[in-house]
Amino acid sequence: MTQKLLIIYTGGTIGMTQTEQGLAPAPGLQTRIEEALGEGLNDLPLFDLLELSPLIDSSNITPANWQAIYDTLQHHWSSYAGFVILHGTDTLAYSASVLSFMLGQCNKNVVITGSQIPLGMSRSDGATNIESALAIAAEPSFGMVSVLFHHTLMQGSRVTKFSSHDFKAFQSFNAEPLAKLSIHKQFNGTCFNNDAAYTPVVRDYEFRDGAVAVLPLYPSLPRYAYEGMLHSEQCQAVILQTYGAGNIADMNTDFVDFLAALQRQQKIVVNVTQCAHGGTAQGTYAAGSLLEKLGILDGKDMTLEAAYAKVHWLLAQGYDYDSITQQWAHAVIGEFTEA
Ligand code: ASP
Repeated sequence: MTQKLLIIYTGGTIGMTQTEQGLAPAPGLQTRIEEALGEGLNDLPLFDLLELSPLIDSSNITPANWQAIYDTLQHHWSSYAGFVILHGTDTLAYSASVLSFMLGQCNKNVVITGSQIPLGMSRSDGATNIESALAIAAEPSFGMVSVLFHHTLMQGSRVTKFSSHDFKAFQSFNAEPLAKLSIHKQFNGTCFNNDAAYTPVVRDYEFRDGAVAVLPLYPSLPRYAYEGMLHSEQCQAVILQTYGAGNIADMNTDFVDFLAALQRQQKIVVNVTQCAHGGTAQGTYAAGSLLEKLGILDGKDMTLEAAYAKVHWLLAQGYDYDSITQQWAHAVIGEFTEA
């Protein structure tokens, strides 16, 4: 088998150039990588680069793009030793989460990265992130999709974008990093999984745009913020971003009625906390215990992005309300901390 890696370029700041309207993704990244990395390329594994079409600002991502990335990986799985995905940072955490579920426990590294400043521009973090991602992709498999950003390797299903300014744009608040890259690569010894059996299958998931809604709670949440979810057939699930340890305004009777109506309609409802760190402890407070009674699924310490991706992925396989409810408590790829 070839030891070459494949870089899949989807768009994002890392490959953007200046246009009259502002930064926009541009083709021809191979040349810009060669210019930016210069002689440093000699110390890196060999790679091919594939540009997806169209290249996008990741703010425009839809499930069709997730499927395209997945199909590309599956199509090339046996031809390369590992993969680097170049992605815009804005929705990178969503793609990393959904690809984590789609690929599951895999026997090659799929490392997602991007940058805060385009490759080739002054003070860009792009070259370092690409170099590190390539170096990591060539390592023995971590057995899961990962994200490399600013010298830290994290589980794909655990990351969140927390800074629009810092080079350290991503955090994995509830899970230890898989590795830290300083002068040496320091791996978290428990993360390798070289034995994962994995047969690549190009699978047509039936992702449905708009199937999952997100509802952040805030004081005196008005009916108009959510009632459309009840009347939409497109909406099959709602991710509630609740307060603190998973609390809702249980004195807001309109809202409580809304939650009960969602259950009657057999729409999946998941409770994740608005807090970046920690998770829910559904039922600790009287103001949260109602959620248990209403059959709302506990998101534990999952990120919003992972909960959103997991529900989309389950629905895309045709699972119904009962089946999703039954399998919810099972972590598929370490997306929450198991007690
Ligand atoms: N808007 C850009 C994107 O997500 C931001 C970035 O890549 O940093 O594609």
